[in-house]
Amino acid sequence: MDDMDTKQTMHITIQKGRSLPELERCTTCCNVFHCPFCSSTLFHSTKLSKVRTHLESHFSRAVLHEGYTIHRSRGRKDIRDESKEEEEKEEQEGLESPV
Ligand SMILES: [Zn+2]
Ligand SMILES: [Zn+2]
Repeated sequence: MDDMDTKQTMHITIQKGRSLPELERCTTCCNVFHCPFCSSTLFHSTKLSKVRTHLESHFSRAVLHEGYTIHRSRGRKDIRDESKEEEEKEEQEGLESPV
């Protein structure tokens, strides 16, 4: 029980308020900026101002919860499919009366 747990930060997709994660210039695959929420195959690295504009668009799909903004990573089509399934399931549950 040392302070290893307290050091552990929240997932990058969870940001306090409407703050954005600090953007750092990439030094591994390019010398511009990546979106911290998207994989580089979905959002290609670009100059800082463009990444900032892109990050603003993340807010439109983000979920606000108790003062935190929870961003959804893009490119996971299973997320959309899941929510659709849930809706259908709810309808079915309402029709069927359990014993
Ligand atoms: Zn890069
Ligand atoms: Zn992104």
